[in-house]
Amino acid sequence: MVRKIQKTEAESLLVGEMPEGCQLCIKGAKLVLFVTGLCSRYCYFCPISEKRKDKDVTYANERLVKKDEDIIEEAKLMEAEGTGITGGEPLAQFERTLYYIKLLKKEFGDKHHIHLYTNGDLLTEAKLEKLVSAGLDEIRLHPVSGDFSIIEQVIKSKIDVGCEIPVIPNNKTGIIKLAEFLENCGAKFLNLNELEFSPTNAEALLQRGLSLRNEISTGVKGSEELAKEILEWASDHTRRLSLHYCPARLKMVFQFKNRLLRRAKHVAKPYEEISDEGLLIKGIIFSEGLSAEQLHRLRNDLIEELGIPSELIAVDEEKMRLETAWHFIDEIARKKKSGLRLAVVKEYPTADRLEIEVIPL
Ligand code: SF4
Repeated sequence: MVRKIQKTEAESLLVGEMPEGCQLCIKGAKLVLFVTGLCSRYCYFCPISEKRKDKDVTYANERLVKKDEDIIEEAKLMEAEGTGITGGEPLAQFERTLYYIKLLKKEFGDKHHIHLYTNGDLLTEAKLEKLVSAGLDEIRLHPVSGDFSIIEQVIKSKIDVGCEIPVIPNNKTGIIKLAEFLENCGAKFLNLNELEFSPTNAEALLQRGLSLRNEISTGVKGSEELAKEILEWASDHTRRLSLHYCPARLKMVFQFKNRLLRRAKHVAKPYEEISDEGLLIKGIIFSEGLSAEQLHRLRNDLIEELGIPSELIAVDEEKMRLETAWHFIDEIARKKKSGLRLAVVKEYPTADRLEIEVIPL
């Protein structure tokens, strides 16, 4: 019997059941815990940013982790229902990974679903046992091509086991071999990610003759087409294994947006409006050399002269500027022209509050 290829509501493609880790990820309900940027491999397609690559740093989403509370608070702010542990190679810092699994399970209970990405190079039976008894729910292996011994070793454990790999356009035979192996050994899933360009892998991809699929996507030309071919093949040649193709756009349009929306409602200040994309929109009055004291005076003037409610205007002393609701900016521009520089700003509700658009007035 031919198995059906389903298009999911997040526009990914699926044969079989979607892994639990992916279901939560699409909802934006998975905390991304980047344990370390260290790794045992040097894959040419590795997309990790300069800021993290080969550096022994930990991030909970965009927040640099300095203490346990950073992770717990970040998980609470986004109402995390689970955590995806990633890197680099998380097992390059095995004790840290183990500690964080225990920490998250202790704080959020057994239901908090934890999956771990690993290339498997540093995994041993003893380490796997420790990870599983700490509460790990799912493991996603990225095996060396052609060597599936690590899968044989892990498949005996009682947690969900699958593989997750990027779809490299000329690797059809290799991916089918892996899928056949997973089907026969009783693994749960194979996740196929669209290969993506990033600032750190672009040169290596271009050198291998790969190019962008179009001007608006970071996806590599031919990666999605091959993923579809693999799913077609799987619909006819597999019975138990689930295969899930995750396109590059899913991360931005569903996973990241949904995570922003979940976090925004907890961190938005009274004067910040949440857009449909989960961005925070507000008006900014730049200080132009004013001291903090002068900024506070200016704030009081604006409250008095324009009747702006005090909770809708604040001094940001770190960035040395005034922030207010965007709809007051026009009025401020009309009535207080004297050298004030004004803008409407859109920023992520993330720990780093990255500004993604500044519209000057
Ligand atoms: S195994 Fe993963 S983290 Fe390590 S170099 Fe390869 S792609 Fe990057």
